[in-house]
Amino acid sequence: MCSIIAYLGLSPAAPIIVKGLKRMEYRGYDSVGVATFSNNQILVRKGVGKVLEVNKIAKLDELSGTVGIGHTRWATHGGVTETNAHPHPSSAGEIAIVHNGIIQNHEELKKELQQKGYMFKSQTDSEVISNLLQYHYDKVKEIKKAVLATVSELKGDYAFAAVFEDGTLAAARLHEPLIIGIGKDGYFISSDVLGFVEHTDEVIYLDNKEFVIINNSGIKVFDFDAKPVQHKITKVSKEFADAYKGDYAHFTLKEISEQPATIPNASNSTRLELDLATDFVKHAKTLYITGSGTSYNAALIAKFLFSKYAKIKIEPIISSEVQFSPNMFEQQSILIALSQSGESADVLEAVKIAKDAGAKIISIVNMMTSSLVHLSSISIGLNCGPEIGVAATKSFTSQLTVLYKIVDKICGNCIGLDLNKVSESITKILSDHSGIQEIARKLKDISDIYVLGRGIHYPIASEASLKLKELTYIHAEGLPGGELKHGPLALMDSNTYVIMINPNDSTYSDTLTSAQEIKARGAKIIGISDKPSDVYDYWVEIPQVDESVYPIIEIVPVQLLAYYAALEKDTDPDYPRNLAKSVTVK
Ligand code: GLU
Repeated sequence: MCSIIAYLGLSPAAPIIVKGLKRMEYRGYDSVGVATFSNNQILVRKGVGKVLEVNKIAKLDELSGTVGIGHTRWATHGGVTETNAHPHPSSAGEIAIVHNGIIQNHEELKKELQQKGYMFKSQTDSEVISNLLQYHYDKVKEIKKAVLATVSELKGDYAFAAVFEDGTLAAARLHEPLIIGIGKDGYFISSDVLGFVEHTDEVIYLDNKEFVIINNSGIKVFDFDAKPVQHKITKVSKEFADAYKGDYAHFTLKEISEQPATIPNASNSTRLELDLATDFVKHAKTLYITGSGTSYNAALIAKFLFSKYAKIKIEPIISSEVQFSPNMFEQQSILIALSQSGESADVLEAVKIAKDAGAKIISIVNMMTSSLVHLSSISIGLNCGPEIGVAATKSFTSQLTVLYKIVDKICGNCIGLDLNKVSESITKILSDHSGIQEIARKLKDISDIYVLGRGIHYPIASEASLKLKELTYIHAEGLPGGELKHGPLALMDSNTYVIMINPNDSTYSDTLTSAQEIKARGAKIIGISDKPSDVYDYWVEIPQVDESVYPIIEIVPVQLLAYYAALEKDTDPDYPRNLAKSVTVK
């Protein structure tokens, strides 16, 4: 979601901050701003739009000073306007803050502060943080005490960073990520290591309910009870530094193209954990699996895999829905939590509810330093490298791979998973994009696409429709083929495109029947299959593979189709409007 970055050191702060914000753009945002401390005052510049666009106009990176904070905002409270963009100075202008998350009690706090004479300019929840800090700072004239008093009053989820009138930085976190970078000539505070990894790979992961104070004499970390905390400095993997597009036009295309390599890599760094997780699953009293968006589609696939091959019942549940069924978990329940970032607020919330009820958590996650990993008994790494494109692609196939590996272990290798063959098949699909590009051109002006699949291919149809929505903004819907005649058939006409996920397995002939019924209503059919048929207006050929692994390969052509259709529609495939990569608010 939004990104925070702060710097205190020997170099000019603003260019470092702007570059860091640019590196974290993939997290999603609508506006951007920077504040620096220079000549005993706090300077603020901000605007609506992309980092480089705003920088061109507002010259964010020309702010003077060697201390500063920066922010990309993903609005939750208050419209997308320059005034609502962060940083927010206190009404006296002696403190400025950037904030990620939501302050739930902002209205009460705002009223109280207004009564005390503090003024507000924005409609955001965040502005209360700067005025509350200012209020306490005015009273106690000590930054540590002011931060403590402030965090004791704030309710909600937050990470914030503040710059004070004496050039001190302070930052605190509660359920939102915050990482400190220790560089040779300065300190960094950021929501994501990508914000500063080109300067240093030495980091401290701040825990929940901790805050940090950084000034020219060094860095001090405390918990919310005011106790000093000693953290080990860890080295982050250099792979984060590889988060560049290289020769690819977009991260999304790069990440789709990486799948032949990322799939065999899934869980490789956590083999022991994979064995442990398998054991946990085998002995679970009740078994659940949760995720949001793409991860939930992976959870739906898990349901088919576990019941078919491992003969185990696993219940998928959308993470944001868990709070409404809080009694489902019990002692000895296992919840498998799926998340690329490990920071999705909905997933973390679901995990907390399950843990409180006595369940154990197995997470399948890409960012092994994330909050989800801290909350889990076992974490299995996707190991697919940074995924920058907002729409999940390689992380999805890596999630599937880990789930397949677990099931294959439980059933005594009954799937006989051969990941090299899977990779080879995907390489074949990726070797020629021309057919898919041609279909993408046809999708340019249409307003509805339906994606049909049966059995295990229905979650793939759902995932395919999610990719089309995210990347092209075309209304897309995934449907189980059999449901067609129970309603959706009414929507089919000559302006409709329908994608059939139709590999040559036990679902093939039923899906083909659905295709005939649709064709009879004049809709255009795109068949994704290893077997041609006259019913398809367009046939996207996939290689023939072992029946069990079709789901991993058949999503790839639709990822590509969504990508090329986005280019046709002139949308930005890497940063779809209104969306964020790491959804850290509920
Ligand atoms: N709730 C704050 C706002 O709407 C911060 C949102 C964010 O995390 O970017 O300004």
